[in-house]
Amino acid sequence: MTPFSFGQVMPGVEIHAQAFETLARGEFLVSASLTGVLFFSMALVAAAGSIFAFLSGWKAYALGVVLLVFAHVFPYWLFGHDVVFPYFAPAASAWLSVAVAASYQHFVVRRQLRKTEMEKARYQQAIHFVTHEMRTPLTAIQGSSELMTRYKLTEEKRQQIAQMINSESRRLARMIQTFLDVERLTEGELELKRASFPARELISICVERARPIAERKRIRIEQEQTDEATLSGDRELMEYAFYNLLTNAIKYSPAGTVVTLSSHAEGEHLRLAVQDQGIGMDEKELKNIFTKFYRTKKAEASGEVGTGIGLSIVEQIVTHHGGRIEVSSQPGKGSCFTLVLPATGTVSSPRTVRACS
Ligand code: ADP
Repeated sequence: MTPFSFGQVMPGVEIHAQAFETLARGEFLVSASLTGVLFFSMALVAAAGSIFAFLSGWKAYALGVVLLVFAHVFPYWLFGHDVVFPYFAPAASAWLSVAVAASYQHFVVRRQLRKTEMEKARYQQAIHFVTHEMRTPLTAIQGSSELMTRYKLTEEKRQQIAQMINSESRRLARMIQTFLDVERLTEGELELKRASFPARELISICVERARPIAERKRIRIEQEQTDEATLSGDRELMEYAFYNLLTNAIKYSPAGTVVTLSSHAEGEHLRLAVQDQGIGMDEKELKNIFTKFYRTKKAEASGEVGTGIGLSIVEQIVTHHGGRIEVSSQPGKGSCFTLVLPATGTVSSPRTVRACS
C-alpha cells in the first residue's frame, strides 16, 4: 500500500511505474524561492497601504478583506501548480499591514479630517458673520457718503451725516475687534483685558445705544431693581454681551411693550436680567438658542434680521469671565435672559424685585 493507494494494495511494479513516470515528466514539487516570497509579502504590504491611502470607508475595508483572502488562497493555488509556497509569511504580512493601515486611517486620518471639517465650518461661520452683521453699518456708511457727494447739502446736514459715518465706522471697527477677540478667546489665544468698572455704567451705555431701536418700535426700557456692583473683565466684550440681550429683547417683542432691566446682587455675583413681553420660546427652542446659526421659526417669521450667532458669542464671553447665562421663556408671553457675573462690592438697593419672576 502507498499513501496514495487509498487502502488498496498496489503491486510494486505499479509503484515503480508511477515513480518512473513522475521522474520522466519532471513533475516534482519545487519550493518557491525566498526572494519570491519576500517580494510577494512586500507587494501585499504595499497593496494594503495603497488601499487605505487612496480609499476610505467601506470600500477600503472591502478591498482589505479581498487582499487578506488573496494572501491566504495564493499559496494553495501555487501548490496546485506544484510550487510549495510558505503560508505564514504572506498571511502574516497581509494581516499586519491591513490592521495597521486600517487603524491608522480610523484613528489618525479621520481625526484630522474631522478637525479640518471643524475648521472649515468655523471659517464659514466667520464669513457668515462678516457678511451679515457688518452689512448694516456698511450700508449706512455707503448711503450717507453717496448723499454727501450727490447732493448739495446744508452745512448742518453735512455735519450730521459726517457724524453718522464716523459713528457707524467706529461701530464697524468695534464689531471687527469683538469678533476677532471672541475668535481668539475660543482658540485660547487671548487673555481677557481685566478692568474694573461699575455695572451701572455698562447698563447705561447699552441702554443709550439701544434706545433709538426701542423708540422706533415704541418699546419702553424700564429699570427695576438696581443693585450696585463692580464688574471685572473685558469691558467691550461684556458690553457686547449685555447689548446683545437688550437688542434681542427689543427685536423679538411687539411694538408698544416694555423691556425691563434689573441688576440683582446675589452673594459674590451680580444678576443682570433683561425681561421682555415678546414672542417667547418653548422648551425645545430654548435648548437650541446657544447653538450657532439657530433661529426659532417665530424669529424668522418676525421679519427681524438676525444671524443666530449672537447668543453663542454671549455664552462664550460670560463663560470666559467665570459667569453663566440663564434663560426662561414662555411662548407668546416673553423671555428673560440673565447674565450671572462674578462681582465685587455689591450693594443692594432697598427695592427687592426679583428678576425673571
Ligand atoms: P439673532 O438674534 O441674530 O438671530 P441670537 O444668537 O442673538 O441671533 O439669538 C438666537 C435666536 O434665539 C434668535 O434668532 C431667536 O430665535 C431667539 N431669541 C433670542 N432672544 C430672544 C428673545 N428675547 N425672545 C425670543 N426669542 C429670542
